[in-house]
Amino acid sequence: MGLEDKLPSGVLLSTVEGLAGYMRKSSVWPATFGLACCAIEMMALGSAPQHDISRFGMERFSASPRQADLMIVAGRVSQKMAPVLRQIYDQMTAPKWVIAMGACSSSGGMFNNYAIVQGVDHIVPVDIYLPGCPPRPEQLMDAIIKLHEQISDTKLGANREAVIKAVEEAAMKAKPTIQLGNIPQEGAFA
Ligand code: SF4
Repeated sequence: MGLEDKLPSGVLLSTVEGLAGYMRKSSVWPATFGLACCAIEMMALGSAPQHDISRFGMERFSASPRQADLMIVAGRVSQKMAPVLRQIYDQMTAPKWVIAMGACSSSGGMFNNYAIVQGVDHIVPVDIYLPGCPPRPEQLMDAIIKLHEQISDTKLGANREAVIKAVEEAAMKAKPTIQLGNIPQEGAFA
C-alpha cells in the first residue's frame, strides 16, 4: 500500500505532490540486475569513488527486489531471462522505475536474432532509454539525474498507474525490430 492509497482521490495538493516527489527521488534504491557487459559500467557507477552515487541516496544496490524501486536493465535480455526479469519487476516495491541501459536492452542492439528480446519494453515499462554500447558510467549518472527529474514531477494517485498501463499496452502492440523492414533476416548470418 503506497501513499496514493492514503490520499483522497481527486483532491491532491501540489505541495504534497512536490514533497512526495522530492522524498522519492532522494531515496531510490536500485535492484542488482546486471545481464551482460553493460553491467560492468553500472558496477563502476555503484562502486568507484569518483562517481559516488551516495550523493543521491542510492549507495545501496538491493539484492532483494522487495527492497528496490529502480531496475537498471544492464545488458541484453535473452528470451529465457525475460520471464525472470518480469517476475523481479513485479516483486519490486511500487512506485517503481526502469532504465534500459545500452543498445541491447533498449532495442536488442546488434543481436537481431530470435534469442534476444528486441527491446526490454516488450517485458516491462521503461522510463528512460540510455543509448550506447556500452554507455559510460557518467552517461548512466546523467540518465539517473533525468529520472530523478521525472520522479519529482510525477503526479500521485491513479495517474502513475494510467501511465504504466498506456506504456505497457504500447509496448505489447509494437512490432519487434526483427519484423521491421530493410533488415536482412534469412541467411544473414550464414
Ligand atoms: S549494449 Fe554493448 S556493452 Fe551493453 S550489453 Fe549490449 S553489447 Fe554489451
